[in-house]
Amino acid sequence: MNAPNPRDLWHARAADRIAAGIDGRMLVNGQRFNATDGDLFDCISPIDGKVIARVARGKQADVDRAVEAARAAFNDRRWAGRPPAARKKVMLAFAERMRAARDELALLETLDMGKPIRNSLSTDVPAAARCIQWFGEAVDKIYDEIAPTGHDALALVTREPVGVVGAIVPWNYPMLMASWKLGPALAAGNSVVLKPSEKSPLTALRLAELALEAGLPEGVFNVVPGYGHEAGEALALHMDVDAIGFTGSTRTGRRMLDYASRSNLKRVYNELGGKSANIVFADFDDLDRAAATAAGSMFYNQGESCNAPSRLLVEEGIADAFVAKLKALAPQYAPADPLDPKTVLGALVDEGQTRTVMGYIEAGLAEGAACVAGGCRALEHTGGQYVEPTVFDHVRNSMKIAREEIFGPVLSVIRFKTEAEAVALANASDYGLHAGVWTRHIDRAVRVSRALHVGTVHVNQYDEDDITVPFGGVKQSGNGRDKSLHAFDKYTELKTTWMRIDAA
Ligand code: NAD
Repeated sequence: MNAPNPRDLWHARAADRIAAGIDGRMLVNGQRFNATDGDLFDCISPIDGKVIARVARGKQADVDRAVEAARAAFNDRRWAGRPPAARKKVMLAFAERMRAARDELALLETLDMGKPIRNSLSTDVPAAARCIQWFGEAVDKIYDEIAPTGHDALALVTREPVGVVGAIVPWNYPMLMASWKLGPALAAGNSVVLKPSEKSPLTALRLAELALEAGLPEGVFNVVPGYGHEAGEALALHMDVDAIGFTGSTRTGRRMLDYASRSNLKRVYNELGGKSANIVFADFDDLDRAAATAAGSMFYNQGESCNAPSRLLVEEGIADAFVAKLKALAPQYAPADPLDPKTVLGALVDEGQTRTVMGYIEAGLAEGAACVAGGCRALEHTGGQYVEPTVFDHVRNSMKIAREEIFGPVLSVIRFKTEAEAVALANASDYGLHAGVWTRHIDRAVRVSRALHVGTVHVNQYDEDDITVPFGGVKQSGNGRDKSLHAFDKYTELKTTWMRIDAA
């Protein structure tokens, strides 16, 4: 007998998982609940347009309940009061459970938001688990400070947890974005209420179960699924939430600041959108690698990445050859069944996102950009959401497709003549998340990197990254940093305790 096709295996697993019923109830204070008013929303898979689960539609009353549980857990110090080594043990166990549940988490993530199963398995689950592990390992390695005062005083500067953290996350990397908030927030001793995106709530709920199994006390990590204007707004406006860790669009990030100013001036940390410039100079001698990375980083996760290098700035002399390479690479990223382990570009998150992306493609054509690859929807017979990898040449930085975040597989090529022009074009954006620089000249690499107004610059690579380095942007890409030890700044407050020492 022939071995089963891996694609069929994943479809069989998906069918079994859906038939067994996916629990869409919220998780508050260690228990599963329906929404207070019983309301539900459909979780639709963008793979084929079918409903895979019905999920509790949390609203104000549910957020109140979750914040109350989080506050009670914080006040009685059932988590923050444990010795660091004990908290570390729980977080490491949590990471281990995530790894043990890899296949299930990966399947839920792919069914929920359409990313290829190979990415969910090889990147999303391992990276999320590593994040929890990394911050868990840090718990017993963070020392407080003694300020250099005179002999008549002892001044301690300690890091205190902020209290109740509201985490509001998007749908493009649902588990990973949740982990970037959870890792440092839990490691610092806070309680968390997580509001996943209504477009991808399933893995967050499962994560909360795994955390409980690992020994995280009840009430420390709560998940309230629901819509942004309901559960999200209630959480961000809540008078008893001390900080908001938000990842999402710049539009919603603006609202987060407004909610804080209208409520208790809670700390708001925004990780927002991007329109990152990837600059290729003619002196870079390995154009094949530069082109493969430009395409691979752009089309990874269907282009639904905040740091996607969506503006490709190419020096005039090599532009024709470079675009020809991109055109030849594009078919490798043809959209296909996300449950097939061979697939590299899956489904967009939902029909609305497909319409948005197609609208941008039409705008690019209307403004006179040259579409040299893709440009169409694909696989419409499946009932799913698929768009071809699309490359526009002869884009001007003033065009809509160069100014606005598309969040789909659409690459805009902008040609430049001088280094100064490249820097000016790259910086002429409302956003400032990432940038790429490809050059063999060390002076140019340093000069250009310094001149770019962004959170991260990649030199002669784009896709390498690690939990050890900060992630975040400047300008309208947000403030604060996820990942690295700097993330603790968001979820801790510095406290000074000044003690007078009397002479003997
Ligand atoms: P979004 O702003 O629509 O939603 C993000 C979250 O906010 C969701 O949970 C949503 O329910 C909630 N929300 C929406 N409206 C709200 C409101 N009025 N009040 C309170 N909460 C509300 O963003 P999205 O479409 O889910 O995600 C895509 C965006 O996320 C892109 O702009 C992308 O660049 C950005 N992103 C940024 C980073 C980063 O680290 N900088 C990482 C990933 C994604």
